Amino acid sequence: MKSYPTLTGPGVPRIMPNPTHIHNPEPPLILDIASITADLAEEDALLDLDSISFPSAKKRAPARLFTIKDKAPDLQLIARCGFPLMLALYFAINLKPPLLTPLPVVIVLCALFLAYHMYSYRRNKQHGFSSSSIGFANQVDIAAALLAWLIDPADPSPMIMLVVIAVIGNGMRHGFASFRALLQIAAVAAPLVYLLRIQMIGFEPLSLIFLTLCAFLIFYTYVLSRQNDRIRQENENRATRLELDNYKLKQLGMALQTSEIRYRNIFDNSTAAMVLLENDMRISLVNASFEKLTQYSRNELYAGKRLSDIIYRDDLERIKRFHARRKKMGGTTPTEYECKLVDRFNNIKHVIIRFNITHWHERLMATIEDVTVQKRSRAALLKSGKKLRETFALLSQSEKGYRNLFENTGTATILVEKNMRISMVNTQFTEMTKYEKNEIIGKKRLSEFIERKNLFRIRRFQIKQKKKGLPLPTEYECLMIDKAKNMKYVVMKTYTPPDQNTSIVSFFDITQRKKDEAALQQAHERLRLISTTDELTQVANRRQFNERLAGEWNRLKREGLPLSLVMCDFDCFKSYNDAYGHQSGDQCLSAIANILKTIFKRSADVVARYGGEEFTVIMPNTDLQGALELAESARAAVEALKIPSKASVVSPYVTLSLGVSALIPSHLLTPDAIIRDADNALYEAKRLGRNRCISGTCCQEMPLANP
Ligand code: GH3
Ligand code: MG
Ligand code: MG
Repeated sequence: MKSYPTLTGPGVPRIMPNPTHIHNPEPPLILDIASITADLAEEDALLDLDSISFPSAKKRAPARLFTIKDKAPDLQLIARCGFPLMLALYFAINLKPPLLTPLPVVIVLCALFLAYHMYSYRRNKQHGFSSSSIGFANQVDIAAALLAWLIDPADPSPMIMLVVIAVIGNGMRHGFASFRALLQIAAVAAPLVYLLRIQMIGFEPLSLIFLTLCAFLIFYTYVLSRQNDRIRQENENRATRLELDNYKLKQLGMALQTSEIRYRNIFDNSTAAMVLLENDMRISLVNASFEKLTQYSRNELYAGKRLSDIIYRDDLERIKRFHARRKKMGGTTPTEYECKLVDRFNNIKHVIIRFNITHWHERLMATIEDVTVQKRSRAALLKSGKKLRETFALLSQSEKGYRNLFENTGTATILVEKNMRISMVNTQFTEMTKYEKNEIIGKKRLSEFIERKNLFRIRRFQIKQKKKGLPLPTEYECLMIDKAKNMKYVVMKTYTPPDQNTSIVSFFDITQRKKDEAALQQAHERLRLISTTDELTQVANRRQFNERLAGEWNRLKREGLPLSLVMCDFDCFKSYNDAYGHQSGDQCLSAIANILKTIFKRSADVVARYGGEEFTVIMPNTDLQGALELAESARAAVEALKIPSKASVVSPYVTLSLGVSALIPSHLLTPDAIIRDADNALYEAKRLGRNRCISGTCCQEMPLANP
C-alpha cells in the first residue's frame, strides 16, 4: 500500500512536511542559541518590530539606558585643584608684580579657589554629581582664568592659554551643551578683559595675535565637538533602540515559549487520542492517549507505522470502497469515520476518527537562552538580535503547530487556571457553548458553564472525597449551559499535568446518548410491565406471582413471620359466559380484579391472576385470622356489586369462592405447600356450596356476613 490519497485528498497540503521527524521522533525542546549562525543580513529582519505593540517596554527597559553617565572621576579633582595651584605658582615666580592686586591677595584668592574646589568635590561625592554643580564649577574655572589674565602684566600673557584650556577641556569633558555655555562666557569676557588691559598697560600687539589664534582654535574645536556630539548621539540612539528591540524580542520570545509549552502540554496530555500523519498515512507524532488506545509505544509507531495498519481490515476495505464510489460520483470527502481499530494485542476497539488538516511546516520547538541585553557593543547587540529573531521565528512556528493541534483535537477543550478562570479555548468549545472566544478567555470561569445543581453535586462529592482522603475523579457527567441557556449532557474529563497550576478540560457531548438511554429505559420499563402484568386485568400475572411468592417465602422464612395466601374462583363462570358472552365475562373479570386491588391494598400484598377466572393474593406478615377477614370482605364486596348472573346456581349475582391458607414458611416446606393448601380450601368452599371463604390449615368455615 503506497499511499492512501482518499483519506487526505489530492491537493491537500502535506501535514508534516519535515521528513526528518520520522527518524527523530522526539523533537528537541530546547534550542541551542549558540548553534544558530549569525550570518543573516542585518536588513533581513524576520520580524517587523514596529508592528508589535509593546506598551510597557519602556517602563521595563534595562536600567542602563537611564543611568547618569557623568560620574566625575578622582582625576577631575586633581585637574581642578592643579589649576589654582598652577596660578599661585605662576604669580609667585613671576618677577613682575601683578597688575592692580598685591601678590598676597592673589595667593589668598588662589587658596579660596582651591578650597572651593575641594569643598564642591566632597559635597558632590556625598550627594551625587549633578550637572548643575559641575556646570557651576566649570564657570568658576573660566572666571578664575580670566581674572588671572586681567592681572598678569606679561605680553602676551600665558593666562590667555589657560582660559582656552579651561574652555576646551571642560567643554570636551562635559559635552557639547556645557562647551557652548562656557564658550559664550569666554567670547564675551575675553575681549572685555583685553580692552581693560589696554586701558591699564597700553596696546598689546602680541596679545592680540595670540588672542586671535586662540579664538580660531576654540572655534575649530567647537565645530569638531559639535560634529562629534551628533555622531555620538546617533550611536547612542541606535544602541538604545537595538537594546530595546532585543528586550522586546526577549519578552515576546518568553511569552511565546510559555505558550508553546502550554500547547505542547495540551497535546501530550489531552484525553483525546491524537496523531499527526504524513501524506501517506505514516504516523509522525502521537500523544500519550493514542499510545494508550493502541497499546503501541511511540517508538513502534514512529518506525514507519501507518494509521491504516491499525484500522480493522474489513473497515479499511469498506472505507476504500466508499472512497472509490465517492471519487466516481464526485462530492466532498468526509472527515469523520466510524470504524474499528486493532491494538497491539489484537483487541478490537470501536472508534470515530476525525481528520483535520493541520499546517505545521516546522517541527522544531525552541526556548530562548538568556542573552545579555546589557552588552554595550553594537556588534554584539546586532548578533544577539539576529539570534533572538531566528529563535523567535522558530518558536513561533512551533507554537503555531501546537496551537493548530489544540484547535483540531476534535473535542471541545479548554485550559483552566487555578482560580477556575478559562485561559484558552478551542473552536469546538465555542461551537458547543455558542460564545465567542473573546467572551470566554480571561472572563469566564469553568463553573459558569455547569448547571447549578450539577455544580453543587460535583462540589459536595469532591469535598466528601477529600475528607476521606480519596483521589478526585477525572471524569464527571453533568449538564452544561450554553449562551442561550440551553442544556446539554456532557462528559467532562479533566487533567492537571504534574507540577502545574493549569488543568486541561475536555467536553464530550452525550446528549444523544442520554436520549437513547432514556428511550431504552422506557422500553425496558414497558417490557417489564408487559412481562409481569396481566393484560386484561392489569394485576400481576402468573410469572410475577411465582417470583414474588418465592421472594416473600424466603424472606419470611428468615424472619419467622406468617405468610397468607388466598385463592379465589368465580362461581359458575362458565354459565356466565354462556349467558352474557365472553366480552361481558372479560369486563366482569377486570371489574372484580379492581375490587380485589382495593381490598388487598398493603404495599406488600400481591393480587395476581392465577388462571382463567382464578385470582390469588399473597399477603406477607399476615396470619390466618387477618387473611380470612380480608378474604371475607372481598367476597362480600363482590356480592355487594350485584352483577347479575342469571345462570348461577348459587346467587342471582356474580359471587366468589375463596380458599385461605396461612403458615410460617420453613425449610421443611416449599411455596407449593401453601398453594396446594389454599387450593384445597377453595375446592372445599366449592364443595360446600360456593360463595364462601374456607381456611385451609384448619378447614374452618368463616361465618358468612349474609348467609
Ligand atoms: P365453578 O368454578 O363454580 O365450579 O364453575 P365454573 O363454571 O366457574 O367452572 P370452571 O372454573 O371450570 O370454569 C371456568 C370458566 O371460566 C371457563 C371459561 O368460560 C371461563 N373463563 C376462563 N378464562 C376466561 C377469560 O379469560 N374470560 C372469560 N370471559 N371467561 C373465562
Ligand atoms: Mg375455575
Ligand atoms: Mg369457576
